[in-house]
Amino acid sequence: MPREKPGDAVPESSNLDDCHPHHRILFDPIKIGPVVAPNRFYQVPHASGMTEANPRVRAAFRGTKAEGGWGVVSTGAVSIHPSSDDSPLPFARLWNDADIASHALTTEAVHKHGSLAAVELWHGGAVVMNRTSRLPPLSPSGVPWAATHIGFMGQQRPKPMDGSDIEAVLNWQRAATRRALDAGFDIIYVYAGMGYLGYEFLLPEYNWRTDGYGGSLENRTRFVREMLEVTRDEAGGRAAVALRISLEELRAKPSDHYASEAHGVVSLLSDVPDLWDVKMDSSPNDCGASRFRPEGAHEPIIDFVRTVTDRPVVGVGRFTSPDTMVSQIKRGVLDLIGGARASIADPFLPEKIRRGDTDAIRECIGCNMCIASWHDGVPVRCTQNATAGEEWRRNWHPEQFQRVKKPESVLVVGGGPAGLEAALVAARQGYEVTLAEQSSDWGGRVLQESQLPGLREWRRVRDYRVWALSQLGNVAMYTDSPMGVDEISSLEARHIAVATGAQWTTHLYSPLEIPSEPLMGPQVFTPEDVFAGRVAGDRILVFDYDNYYLGGVIAEHLGCQGAQVVYATPAGHASAWTFMTNELPYVYKALGEQGVEILTTTNLDHFNGQLAGLSNLFNQQPLEREIDAVVVVGLRQPNLDLYQALQTAQENTDSPLIDTPITLVGDALAPGAIAHAVHSGHGFARSLIDGDSAYFRDEPINLLEPQPVFVEG
Ligand code: ADP
Ligand code: SF4
Repeated sequence: MPREKPGDAVPESSNLDDCHPHHRILFDPIKIGPVVAPNRFYQVPHASGMTEANPRVRAAFRGTKAEGGWGVVSTGAVSIHPSSDDSPLPFARLWNDADIASHALTTEAVHKHGSLAAVELWHGGAVVMNRTSRLPPLSPSGVPWAATHIGFMGQQRPKPMDGSDIEAVLNWQRAATRRALDAGFDIIYVYAGMGYLGYEFLLPEYNWRTDGYGGSLENRTRFVREMLEVTRDEAGGRAAVALRISLEELRAKPSDHYASEAHGVVSLLSDVPDLWDVKMDSSPNDCGASRFRPEGAHEPIIDFVRTVTDRPVVGVGRFTSPDTMVSQIKRGVLDLIGGARASIADPFLPEKIRRGDTDAIRECIGCNMCIASWHDGVPVRCTQNATAGEEWRRNWHPEQFQRVKKPESVLVVGGGPAGLEAALVAARQGYEVTLAEQSSDWGGRVLQESQLPGLREWRRVRDYRVWALSQLGNVAMYTDSPMGVDEISSLEARHIAVATGAQWTTHLYSPLEIPSEPLMGPQVFTPEDVFAGRVAGDRILVFDYDNYYLGGVIAEHLGCQGAQVVYATPAGHASAWTFMTNELPYVYKALGEQGVEILTTTNLDHFNGQLAGLSNLFNQQPLEREIDAVVVVGLRQPNLDLYQALQTAQENTDSPLIDTPITLVGDALAPGAIAHAVHSGHGFARSLIDGDSAYFRDEPINLLEPQPVFVEG
């Protein structure tokens, strides 16, 4: 397979003339064993939801980050053997030679831009359930991984590994390393984090062994050391060897000889890997939502590593500020700036820093819709970057736009996330855009919601787009401009997007588990009333069957304001869907801090202004609470009045709108998460040029006849 060597391409990326002098350090080349990263921007391994079933989607997704200046671009987890089968969660694999070609697409896409390609070889140990391969999961001592973690529960318990199992895993790592080299990877990982097999050997809670792989810290480190050694031996100087390791639990463990067991493991393995990739242990901590975890939250755990090893260290922290990145380097915390979410939200973040255009960075908001797509088992989606995952499928580039040949006028009604994105992309394509918003400020629901506890960073959805629109000369933006049929007709726009959003209702939840009749009364409120400060009462019930973040955030907000809050939901957990976004454990903490009473599997039956009648969803056991006000967070309905009025107007043959395409976008089309609204607005604008484009369907690459995967070592 022909491959370009890093450094063969893009001399442009070394031009730092426009880079702020303070930020230039970020563009230092960094030696990682036998290879050299062209700069310090390192896209660490992260889930993409892309498997061997969509190799072109995956290659374009990763290649776009290299194009945007990430000096190293990594895969997500790549299983080394069918005994590491995470299905139904998506994962990649290098199980036999038939898998090489699909990864070669990725390495070619990355090398094309002069970046290094890294592969995260992975054995899931006791975390995986091998639901498809039906092989027994492997573990040091038969201890299941965090069996109480909802969602990861399964019926399969792991087998304690004997000596031949250990030998087999080492052989699989060696074979996968050979395939990774054939696929063209420059950095090859051993994974000892997040509960996976290497990690389980390190932690005494999972490793009860009494042989040479258990007991003392040195013994517990042995398996990881051997994995590194076989990888290095097989790589033979053709690729660097990286160790990805979680240090949170280890750092909390005292040690007789070291400052902590984390210090001990890093000391014992100090110069064994060429690179240390250091992180937290559980997904909610490692990939924490901005509601609860600020930029750079890993630092107190990983800050010591550089003092113990002279090998380069990469770590993450949802870094979007170049000043913070520089500070991490200058203070000796990290050598390379790891990015996962920051690179999804803006694949061109390094390039924007290089050319001194830091205002143009589309900063991650920390909402974790990206990680939720992995939990959903689908390719990645991003609130801030509608093009994530669509680079090949729809040919959407995050920074490049086709230009319309003959500029036409586009009117966008509504300045929420959907309208802002529609207007921005249309304007970038060269259309003459008018954007009208009835309220006095931009942002729609984001403007409102970002005032609630923990959601401040979500305002970036608005701020980035308002800033970007302000840079363009072909956009007219009007606030305080409620648009009706007359106003719209008078503008004679060639295309109209109606992005009027949706509104919450007070519909309750029926025993049939579908929305039922609205709850009426002066003390019955919706989230819009909360945003407007209209909710009054000492004792407030938040009834939530939306089940995402907002019900929990509102309960927290009302608690912060001094109300005694009861939160009730028919779901099994408060803010149940936030399990998908890694927020759930912290939702409970936040509600607990405000003294919120949580009632799950509970339905609201009636409310008379003083008493709320509730019942258990399953056994109908009634309960009551004395309540002054109820906030229902349940069903949202699209704001269709304007759209329907425009359709009626079009029926009149004299109407100036008669031939004007009118398109619903965002929540007005279908109420959903902000990510869906942004994607909808983006799709509208692209379709102005592309038409109603279908997307390409990716297919596995089958260069070889189906071959057996050897399940024995
Ligand atoms: P989305 O998430 O789809 O962008 P939002 O509810 O966040 O939806 O935003 C919709 C925006 O549309 C709101 O800011 C609202 O004020 C605005 N809007 C609704 N109707 C009109 C109208 N007739 N004229 C101008 N703006 C409108
Ligand atoms: Fe950041 Fe949200 Fe995009 Fe994930 S989905 S990268 S958290 S903005």
